[in-house]
Amino acid sequence: MEWEVVIGLEIHAQLSTKSKIFSGASTAFGAMPNTQACAVDLGFPGVLPVLNSEAVTMAVKFGLSVDAPISKRSVFARKNYFYPDLPKGYQISQFELPVVGKGSIDIELEDGESKTIGITRAHLEEDAGKSLHEDFQGKTGIDLNRAGTPLLEIVSEPDMRSAKEAIAYMKKIHSLVQYLEICDGNMQEGSFRCDANVSLRKKGAEKLGTRAELKNINSFRFVERAINVEIERQAEILESGGKVVQETRLYDDALNKTFSMRSKEEANDYRYFPDPDLLPLEIDDAFIEAQKKTLPELPDQKKRRFIDQYALSLYDASILTSNKDLAAYYEQVVDASGKQSKLSVNWVNGELAASLNKENMQIAQSPIKATDLGVMVGLISAGEITGKIAKTVFEYMWNGEGDPLAIIDKHGLKPITDSAELEKLVDDIIAANPKQVEQYQGGQQKLLGYFVGQAMKVTKGKADPAQLNQLIKKKLK
Ligand code: ADP
Ligand code: MG
Repeated sequence: MEWEVVIGLEIHAQLSTKSKIFSGASTAFGAMPNTQACAVDLGFPGVLPVLNSEAVTMAVKFGLSVDAPISKRSVFARKNYFYPDLPKGYQISQFELPVVGKGSIDIELEDGESKTIGITRAHLEEDAGKSLHEDFQGKTGIDLNRAGTPLLEIVSEPDMRSAKEAIAYMKKIHSLVQYLEICDGNMQEGSFRCDANVSLRKKGAEKLGTRAELKNINSFRFVERAINVEIERQAEILESGGKVVQETRLYDDALNKTFSMRSKEEANDYRYFPDPDLLPLEIDDAFIEAQKKTLPELPDQKKRRFIDQYALSLYDASILTSNKDLAAYYEQVVDASGKQSKLSVNWVNGELAASLNKENMQIAQSPIKATDLGVMVGLISAGEITGKIAKTVFEYMWNGEGDPLAIIDKHGLKPITDSAELEKLVDDIIAANPKQVEQYQGGQQKLLGYFVGQAMKVTKGKADPAQLNQLIKKKLK
């Protein structure tokens, strides 16, 4: 049987406001447990929440960047349930009237095609506290610092057809919220996390299958793995004539399996109702227009500009613009290199990306300054250093030596351009290899490479291979 995979994601992006969504308590990460939750965050009797306007601004920016209508009037509702990390007994969220309506975003697939994914809605809500199960030997610790932290929940349409598409979508939203500077995107700290809804249906069927919801996964790799094992699990059930039950499941990465957490029957009845302590949120056109003007260049716009301005391939431009810092770094390299956009992308997406990857570092932590890398690229393109020497220079820069010109000076990496010196060197090599000379002159043209190689070895790569090629050919004629 052929199954079609259907996936919809609910992404929670923590908004990078300084204070909570309804109180003045700090949102800074890493404080001592229970030092940053105030009476409002804990819902003590008699307190009144006051909406943080910065959180609204951020939600509006998001809506505008995915071409979604901004609601002129939206309503905060109480979602009622009790949980140890939600001692006040309800979470303030938005239900029927979210601040951001239907939008969409384009994702790039591996074959270079792009696909539009629908966004159902995005709404503002507060986060709950955190239950800490480790370090307490059979007990659970509760840290309420996170209570009241602003979240934007971004709900997608069930438009994705594979784990790969789901990851591409998640990465695109991740990149977008960072471009907008509304979320730091830090997945380890839980600032960006996702629930994945997965179902299967027969190829060609209209009706969606029954879905399972995989809760709170906070790494791209785990989301992909969790979705794929869930697809296998559901396919096995359906193949053997069984039925998938609608439920919430948890992914265990150590076992690479999903486990049932609660079924639909056990699901909470949240008894949503408008929060009587909060006025409806009204947003006027002037505010929306003003926010439009503050929007930065967005990933897709930047990608198109990179393709036009720097003559890059779609592939290179997509990689560079997937991350705002990386895009800015690249532009600095190009500037410092004397507009060598293609050679710059080779070094940024090649050598530099590989080195950062190896050390698990972000572009912002690069030990090589963009201007230094750019100057080095300029030297290569001007023929001042060979690609081989550039690799050596790169190593020194990576180890913190900075300025490529100073490195070349200090380590004697100046290229040998003096033709008398090169000629002498070639003569020596020819004299030392009579057998190869005979073979070459007997018709084995391939041996030219051998002579060039010898010369490169002697000069430690400091000679121009093209120049050597010519010289050796002439001498051996
Ligand atoms: P809930 O809030 O109870 O999880 P929603 O209707 O808001 O329910 O749906 C949440 C997510 O589930 C959305 O992203 C939606 O696209 C996705 N979804 C809904 N039905 C299916 C399905 N049959 N298969 C896969 N995803 C689905
Ligand atoms: Mg859900």
